[in-house]
Amino acid sequence: MIPVRFPIAILIIIFIIASVFILARAAAPAQLIERTRLCMGTMVEIRAGVPSGWQRQRAEALIDKAFAEIGRIEGVFSVFKTDSEISKINALASDAPVETTGEVCALVERCLAYSKKTNGAFDITVKPLVGLWDRAKELKDVPSESAISAAAAKVGFRYLKVDAADKTVYFQRQGMALDLGGVAKGYAADRAAAMLMANGIRDAIVNLGGNMYCLGSYSGREMWRIGIRHPRERGKILMALKVKDKAVVTSGDYERYFIAGGRRYSHIIDPRTGHSIGDDIVSATVIAKDAATADMLATALCVLGREGLDMVKDVEGADAVIIRKNGNSFETFTTGGFMERYGATQGQ
Ligand code: FAD
Ligand code: MG
Repeated sequence: MIPVRFPIAILIIIFIIASVFILARAAAPAQLIERTRLCMGTMVEIRAGVPSGWQRQRAEALIDKAFAEIGRIEGVFSVFKTDSEISKINALASDAPVETTGEVCALVERCLAYSKKTNGAFDITVKPLVGLWDRAKELKDVPSESAISAAAAKVGFRYLKVDAADKTVYFQRQGMALDLGGVAKGYAADRAAAMLMANGIRDAIVNLGGNMYCLGSYSGREMWRIGIRHPRERGKILMALKVKDKAVVTSGDYERYFIAGGRRYSHIIDPRTGHSIGDDIVSATVIAKDAATADMLATALCVLGREGLDMVKDVEGADAVIIRKNGNSFETFTTGGFMERYGATQGQ
């Protein structure tokens, strides 16, 4: 782990649209298509280079298909939609095993594996606590310890049973519910990028509000340059990275949070304590082979902090950078070799 210290002059709390984003190039190639749409409560951006010899419309049609795939995944995994597969499971799985699709079973099983790997820091059964803290955000009032304990009693990946052969999901405790908010945007980025690649696109970025997969390179020549935004200062880049055929995902406390009693409460919950994560870890960025894995690890790192970097090193092809608040300054910690491996530079 390499600690890097840097001071901040003024602490400004701002609304930030995305925590990681594509850095502009001086000269964009003529054949780069850029499209944005609102999906999953976030701005989704797809950029793709038009392969040589292709009509532009052919690549545009594929980008439309990629957005359609993201929309399909939202329809399956959203807890904001009452007719989604996940909402169906949440309504029925405390009573009896609920039959679902192979896709849902497979992703839930991947999540369970990462719950074990992170000792419960990443846990999709966190929904009862997410609901409690969402209400707290509306009221700007921290929940009582008894309310936290009551919600936490309905949380625990050990009580979530998946039968891959029967394709069923079952809750061993009444009142349990799933929330795949910490993984499904990464999963969707992977699926959309895989769809583009399978149809002949070699260079593209799919970015769901900071959950991105970077396919190939920028205009077929240079590596994609990704900026990690400074957590508190508008317009300032903390770090720039170069990546190719990798996912880059950031989780942090700067988009969805509330402040009560002078303290910041993030939308990320420590499922083991029932509490929203504190003011300590500001953000975690994970680079991995796929965005679903990076998404799970980034959420877990926000809970685990610096100690979680050892766990990231155990995942093949994964690296991470954590930003931690330290008084009036921020510190960054990375997995070993991070700066060299991604040609990372501080600032732009
Ligand atoms: P991440 O760190 O990746 O995820 C944090 C989210 O995961 C939390 O918001 C919570 O839902 C959950 N979580 C919290 N703690 C943990 C933990 N320890 N382990 C596992 N999970 C945890 N937002 C809207 O406002 N409107 C919508 O209609 C909407 N639809 C969505 C549909 C889908 C399919 C998805 C995936 C998300 C949707 N969202 C929507 C956004 C969602 O509510 C979350 O806020 C968002 O996924 C947070 O993602 P993130 O990358 O910022 O943070
Ligand atoms: Mg996540």
